[in-house]
Amino acid sequence: MTTGFLPQLDNRRLVRMVEISRILNSETHLDQLLSTIIKEAAELTAAEAASIFLLDPRTRQLLFTASSNPIPANMANIPVSLDNSIAGAIVKANRPMYIQDVSNDPRWNKNIDQAIDFQTKSILGVPMRNGNKEPVGVLEAINKQDAPHFSREDFETLTVLADIAGVAVEKARLIEELEKANNELAELDELKTNFIAIASHELRTPLSVILGYVSFLRDEAGPEMAAQMDSVLGAAVHLRTLIQDMLNLRYVDAGEAAVNRERVDFVEIVREMKAQVDETAVAKQQTINVKLPNTPVPVMIDRGMIEVVLGNLLDNAVKFTPQGGSILIAVQPQSSEVWFRIQDTGVGIPENQINRIFRRFYQVESALRRSYEGMGLGLAIAKELVELNDGRIWAESVEGLGSEFFVALPRVNV
Ligand code: ADP
Repeated sequence: MTTGFLPQLDNRRLVRMVEISRILNSETHLDQLLSTIIKEAAELTAAEAASIFLLDPRTRQLLFTASSNPIPANMANIPVSLDNSIAGAIVKANRPMYIQDVSNDPRWNKNIDQAIDFQTKSILGVPMRNGNKEPVGVLEAINKQDAPHFSREDFETLTVLADIAGVAVEKARLIEELEKANNELAELDELKTNFIAIASHELRTPLSVILGYVSFLRDEAGPEMAAQMDSVLGAAVHLRTLIQDMLNLRYVDAGEAAVNRERVDFVEIVREMKAQVDETAVAKQQTINVKLPNTPVPVMIDRGMIEVVLGNLLDNAVKFTPQGGSILIAVQPQSSEVWFRIQDTGVGIPENQINRIFRRFYQVESALRRSYEGMGLGLAIAKELVELNDGRIWAESVEGLGSEFFVALPRVNV
């Protein structure tokens, strides 16, 4: 205990204190917390009123924060001098004080009494401390009712209450700060999402014009120009996939509303990916094997979304696997689910990053130094789309040897 002695609360007060501790610990809103503390402080010590002064963590000023008497708006949170007030003296000494007759105390501040239309006679004040025993404020019980003095038991009760309250106040402040930071992050995230939505939308139109004209010019161009036209076309197609990723993000952000479920054969969807003839894989002389069950596996999914997911996984496997490597795709029923597996012999993923790769814009290599193209959106989109379809996605990998990605989707009972 902070007072250096063991408080000798009677059973009734002890039981009450345990209950109060439970309430204060579960209250995370500072205002509510403070009003509970003053109410309990006044009741438990049979005081006419109770007040709380809190130290502003930034300015280190002591503020008159809460009182069982209504505080007029112009008095709310007014700073109280640390050097010339009773509450200030309690904070500075970091120990309790009992002022039996405030009228004799030069530190007594009459303004507050005048403002809240109250007459203070005696003050029993104790510091409220945080977990490190540093003062965060002062809890005061004012004017003992029906007795000339506050008792030793009142003093002990108030001390225990202030200790519990100090920790609870600090916790509530931290939670408020966290909530604020979290809201700011959510706002920033929304700005970013809106920017991506607008940018991708705006980029799409001029790109279609470029693609259209380049395809036309390529057909018209003689053989000597065809190669150059092909590289322009290749670059424009690449740009289109990047923009498509950005557009898919918006599709994901629409959430549940965008899901259009239909009953489809999952085996058929994978067959139609035509992974074996993927142009990039062919160009990199990679071998792609596909192992499918002989019987259909019905699922209730948004087909377009799941095609985006499988397409992203295949693109990654091809991209992160060197020339001549191999990729294995398999579909297998697994109890109530169907599993899609795609295994490659590529660069692999370090173990400590295996979960982070599913976050938006996350790339194992930093974007500025990396040797692979992309924006770090494919897997984040895949994860959100899979989850919108009640599925799961995860990866396993041995760095340097290859990776394996899994998608599990619920099967429809036949
Ligand atoms: P990107 O557009 O960068 O490919 P993704 O979200 O699809 O974005 O992937 C995020 C990161 O995860 C990639 O940048 C890469 O570092 C890692 N990654 C994804 N798939 C594979 C894979 N098959 N093999 C190795 N690393 C992978």
